[in-house]
Amino acid sequence: MKWTHTLIPTLREAPADAEIISHKLLLRAGLIRKLAGGVYTFLPLGLRALRKVEQIIREEMDRAGANEVLMPALQPKEIWEQSGRAETASNVLFRVKDGANREWFLSPTAEEVITTLAANEINSYRQLPKNFYQISLKFRDEIRPRFGLMRAKEFIMKDAYSFDATDEGAMASYKKMYDAYTRIFARCGLKAFPVEADTGVIGGNYSHEFMVPAETGENEVAFCEACGYAANLEKATSGIPKTAAREIGAAIEKFATPGVVTIEALSKEPYKVPANRQIKTLIYIADSQPVIILIRGDDQLNETKLLAKTGAVAARPATVEEIVPLLGAKPGSLGAVLNVPADAKVFADERLRGANDMTTGANEDGFHLKNVSIERDIKVTAWFDLRTVSAGEPCVKCAQPLKIRRAIEVGHVFKLGTKYSEKLNATFLDADGSRQPPVMGCYGIGVTRTLQAIIEQGNDKDGVIWPLSVAPYQVCLTPLAVAPESAAMQLAEKLYAELTAKGVEVLLDDRDERPGVKFKDSELVGFPIRIGIGEKSLAKGEVEIKPRNGVLQPVKIDEAVDAVLKLVAAGAAG
Ligand code: ATP
Ligand code: MG
Repeated sequence: MKWTHTLIPTLREAPADAEIISHKLLLRAGLIRKLAGGVYTFLPLGLRALRKVEQIIREEMDRAGANEVLMPALQPKEIWEQSGRAETASNVLFRVKDGANREWFLSPTAEEVITTLAANEINSYRQLPKNFYQISLKFRDEIRPRFGLMRAKEFIMKDAYSFDATDEGAMASYKKMYDAYTRIFARCGLKAFPVEADTGVIGGNYSHEFMVPAETGENEVAFCEACGYAANLEKATSGIPKTAAREIGAAIEKFATPGVVTIEALSKEPYKVPANRQIKTLIYIADSQPVIILIRGDDQLNETKLLAKTGAVAARPATVEEIVPLLGAKPGSLGAVLNVPADAKVFADERLRGANDMTTGANEDGFHLKNVSIERDIKVTAWFDLRTVSAGEPCVKCAQPLKIRRAIEVGHVFKLGTKYSEKLNATFLDADGSRQPPVMGCYGIGVTRTLQAIIEQGNDKDGVIWPLSVAPYQVCLTPLAVAPESAAMQLAEKLYAELTAKGVEVLLDDRDERPGVKFKDSELVGFPIRIGIGEKSLAKGEVEIKPRNGVLQPVKIDEAVDAVLKLVAAGAAG
């Protein structure tokens, strides 16, 4: 391909709305263009790189025994009502109406479609196990699309779905996908690692996310370098000790705390109640019902855990208008000891179990209670792990200090169980003649997000550094004179033909531009190998080969093709 034949609109500066390096480089290297917030066109080079990522995924899915299919993006609303997700996934669904006023959803994922297919086509244990995958556009009405392809309204996802006759079978299918994901990200040149994950709206009981460490990632991961424990902060637990019990003190005592409405204020003069001896009382509305949540004063509530542990579909902090009629006081003086409605649900964090000599709000503005013993004085409905882990806490497995880092979620594997098969009436006839719901798993890779994560991980001040496996072209051939009769261009055409014949992907920069511009652009786009053909080196019977990530080397003209083939075989490490 010749540069002047294709469209590579490189930019000196990135548009102001591109905040992170990979988003800037996608635009500056002429890989994508924005049509609207969260909606992008892939230009020729961007699409070539994307197709390579897809091909790696396809090869590894096929190798793991999955079958490629293509499901509709337009999904009838009814199957979503059947699964219950018309409501639970409501906030991300794109809805469209046809001329007959029938409602459809644009596919954000495809559990409902594949399970409907399985209900019709899989009838016997002899047909199991099966795994189907597709690589297709997905649509999610993200409230805050941002960072380019990272969080888009329309993006490409690989989604796979496994069906097994037994739970052990489902575990084996899960393991195959987990291993395939490890290979996929390695082949894409990505340092991705699996972490334990929350299952969210998808449901199910076992799940891992594949994370790419990056400061700009939207996830936080707790991990232990000593034993390898790693979990999304939404799910992570630690071995932190429970609140130390003290001598049971006197009975509860109310004391005035005028104007004191924060944990911090109560920890200062004249009260001096340390945060770890305070009970923080939070009121949430979970699935339309108020719940009282108790957390230690120095801990933070983890909202994802709240949903996961209590089984609520949605939860939000209650407003002052909702709180006052419930507990008779405003936030800052709340507690769960006095004036609590008999039917109120009180969820307490495990770290408070057994805690006594605690201080908490009196449900009377300007008053707190001391000498509170949680098990004696509070009617706790249920105990859960609700707190967010902090860096330095002991690992839950080996007690070494945990670290926390930011990361990008590029893939997610779930063991679903029979939730969808039951709801959508998928059954098979088992060997013993009984009808059973197949045990399912589902497995997603954000293909477009993965492409951007590769750039987020591979770049320097000059531009993108592509791994050879996904670079739009492996070689950029850069003659510095481009007139057809010039020696440089003639040699370029010859090398182009020879390399292409050997299966190397070459872009010939035939633009009539200054050498500086051409070199800068090839670094910006990030081709793994550049072959420069200038007058000086030609006079010496040489060309200049420069791996993107290495040093420039003069090479004899008739050794150039072999030298490039060697670099390609070695992954173009410079
Ligand atoms: P997130 O937590 O980032 O919103 P998710 O957990 O909702 O993602 P899944 O349902 O697990 O996403 O989808 C599978 C994969 O699809 C994710 O691991 C991610 O790589 C990708 N993905 C999800 N949402 C988006 C999006 N809005 N834009 C680009 N890729 C996405
Ligand atoms: Mg996910």
